[in-house]
Amino acid sequence: MRIAVPAETAEEPRVAATPETVKKLIALGGTVAVQSGAGRSSGLTDEAFRAAGASVEPDAAATLKDADVVLKVRRPEAADLPHYKRGAAVLAIMDPYGQDAALKAMAEAGLNAFSMELMPRITRAQVMDVLSSQANLAGYRAVIDAAEQYGRAFPMMMTAAGTVPAAKVFIMGVGVAGLQAIATARRLGAIVTATDVRPATKEQVESLGAKFVAVENEEFKNAETAGGYAKAMSDDYQRQQNELVATHIAKQDIVITTALIPGRPAPKLVTAGMVKSMKPGSVVFDMAVERGGNCELSKPGEVVDADGVKVVGYLNVPGRLAATASSLYARNLYAFLETLVSKDTKALAIDWTDELVKATALTRDGAVAHPNFAPKPA
Ligand code: NAD
Repeated sequence: MRIAVPAETAEEPRVAATPETVKKLIALGGTVAVQSGAGRSSGLTDEAFRAAGASVEPDAAATLKDADVVLKVRRPEAADLPHYKRGAAVLAIMDPYGQDAALKAMAEAGLNAFSMELMPRITRAQVMDVLSSQANLAGYRAVIDAAEQYGRAFPMMMTAAGTVPAAKVFIMGVGVAGLQAIATARRLGAIVTATDVRPATKEQVESLGAKFVAVENEEFKNAETAGGYAKAMSDDYQRQQNELVATHIAKQDIVITTALIPGRPAPKLVTAGMVKSMKPGSVVFDMAVERGGNCELSKPGEVVDADGVKVVGYLNVPGRLAATASSLYARNLYAFLETLVSKDTKALAIDWTDELVKATALTRDGAVAHPNFAPKPA
């Protein structure tokens, strides 16, 4: 079983394997080829990969040659598809929504592509949960980045020159990223409030020492899907919640938004008017910017100055902590790959009836196989 770890594009600093996981992949029965420079942005040298037992290859073509398994952070680049072996299992964050042409191209190249972000949120798969491992780091990093953009201190300080008030931080969306953002902002000494449409989050927010802010009516009490994700809320709920949030935001120094609904554009929660109501020097950090944004004013990859309020739209926030993000991501991939490999033959033996495989398999045998993404019959 030949396992390939190609380099990502320039926009993606993470890498899908580390020397630690290379050793484990070899113990699983694989030989590992890593593209030269693949780990550079994560502080991992070619030498470190070689020392772990990998071969280091000069380019994507040499790395991918004859590979049965390809470990990636992002979906394969179209230009590299001819280098992939037909039937190769490719594990990556495939970002499949609205990407019909890219999925078709992977199917036609004969790949068995697995979309790691579709992994079910069940106990058995927690160790493979890339959304959680990366969102947790992103939540931490968003607070650090927001603190950098904010021209004031976070904690209350009583000094000989007078008292500095604590920063007020409001977290919108309390999933994995939001919870870590709350914890991080609290550790830095901020006064933290948070909101979410899922009622279960109220207790989680309070257990971290923050205050929960939401319209808690009947619709709110039923707003969680069986899978634990948010539902899209009614117009009426959104109007009431917007009013409450608008009054609250006007008093905040930092707003960090993380609200997502799987497979849909991010809900717009922070209007231009709300940004305008904030004091100059305040910061809005929109973690949903890649999915359309939670804030009307955020722009992907930019820090927008809106009358003195900084609206931060950094892309790939986990990638801003590339070394840690790569190390956790590589472990997630290893854990999933381990389930795809036979302990006896030490070769790929994919059980297509396994619920983890069924949930994540995007393309198979030349076709887009996943029910949510397969072309609809005409
Ligand atoms: P996510 O990234 O999909 O969304 C982030 C948050 O935004 C969610 O909490 C969501 O409720 C919230 N949101 C959506 N619309 C909103 C709106 N209009 N206003 C305010 N907030 C809004 O979430 P996630 O971090 O992937 O977590 C989703 C769920 O999965 C949670 O219940 C989490 O506890 C659960 N989870 C389970 C496991 C596991 O069991 N293995 C692992 C991780 C997460």
